[in-house]
Amino acid sequence: MNFIETLKLKSKLFFIFIIITLGLIIIGVMGAINLNSMKKNLDSLYFGSLVPVIELNKIVQTYQGTLANTLYRAKNAEIAPHEVKSQIKNTIQSVEKEWKSYESHFKRDYELGYVEYAASEIKAINSYLYRIVEAISQGNDTKKLSISNIEKKVAHVHQVVNKLISYEVDVARYERKNFLTLYEGILVKVGSILIMVIFCVMIISFYVFKSIQNDQTALEITTKKLKIANKKLENASYTDSLTNLHNRRYFNLVYDREIKRAKRNHSNITFMMLDIDYFKQYNDIYGHIEGDFALKSVAKVFKDVLKRPSDFVFRLGGEEFGILLTEVTEDNSAIIARNICDSIKAREIKHEGSKINKFLTVSIGVANCLADEALDEEILISKADEMLYKAKESGRDGYCITTNISVTTPHVAEEASA
Ligand code: GH3
Ligand code: MG
Ligand code: MG
Repeated sequence: MNFIETLKLKSKLFFIFIIITLGLIIIGVMGAINLNSMKKNLDSLYFGSLVPVIELNKIVQTYQGTLANTLYRAKNAEIAPHEVKSQIKNTIQSVEKEWKSYESHFKRDYELGYVEYAASEIKAINSYLYRIVEAISQGNDTKKLSISNIEKKVAHVHQVVNKLISYEVDVARYERKNFLTLYEGILVKVGSILIMVIFCVMIISFYVFKSIQNDQTALEITTKKLKIANKKLENASYTDSLTNLHNRRYFNLVYDREIKRAKRNHSNITFMMLDIDYFKQYNDIYGHIEGDFALKSVAKVFKDVLKRPSDFVFRLGGEEFGILLTEVTEDNSAIIARNICDSIKAREIKHEGSKINKFLTVSIGVANCLADEALDEEILISKADEMLYKAKESGRDGYCITTNISVTTPHVAEEASA
């Protein structure tokens, strides 16, 4: 059944269809052949066996009924001689006609002997009756007819024909038995073929559907793998390869979404802009590779400090980072900014080029507000940028925060921390 595995679904179904069709054709042909032989059997049963019995019975009835009645009435002078003649002639013709018809049916070789004997006996009695007709024509008195002599001959023919009748009845019984045996045989044959076809269809269907199931399982596994690969690809397209933080592309997506959510919920939203202090000098002193290591260390600090699923950290470009916090108050935003500054410093990344500390430091611009419908999406970024500039101006290694940013409430409270 391995070849079924190699077929495509369409071909598999076509294969089932062919098998079923072939099965039905075989059943149809076998049924037609067997029904035809059944029909022949019926023919032989009714026309080959029962009809001869009817013909023979008519011969007996003609002799015993019509002829006996004519002779009786002739003897008692109840009918005229010419009527006696014509009735005897009718009897002879009727018997000859029935016998001719009986003889015309198919006879087996071993039956011919007795049939010829019966024919000669019928011929003998008919010749005798012709002689009576001739005698009446020559004027013999019908009252003097020897009925007992005729009765004896009729009784003898009756005996001969009866033997034929019982033989034909036996043949009819035999043919009927044959017919019933054949009929039962046909039923068994057709039933067996049907059972075989159904069995074959069941076995083949089992393998076909098993194969379809295997295909489906393989497809499901491939789809799952594809989904995982897609997810990885999507993650990669939203991830910065150096720091493993979210990249600018993801920032564009998330920033928009979170601002809209905050506007809908009228909740707090904080955006921070971070920039490493004197990083140009860092690169100049330690080289770009060390600079990249420093960027990774800074990213690690962000990850350690910001652990909530709703905290987003992005590398916006170069040594600039963005942090988006939802549902964090002004006070907590300031605490987090302070915490980030301290944690980076505590990392003790040596920076001999820095004019403010012997370790690497960052400056942060923080913009926090309670979002409302009138909040402009860009203002939060530009305010954070402004605050970053201010933090740099104020001596670096610290943060500047502004709150209540809204078109409807333009009041800006600013605070600096060094
Ligand atoms: P400031 O305190 O005013 O920010 O001084 P700064 O020297 O850091 O000035 P600025 O922010 O303009 O300097 C950015 C420098 O960051 C320029 C470049 O040498 C460095 N830089 C940007 N991207 C990368 C990077 O991917 N790897 C490394 N190693 N350095 C980078
Ligand atoms: Mg910069
Ligand atoms: Mg810088």
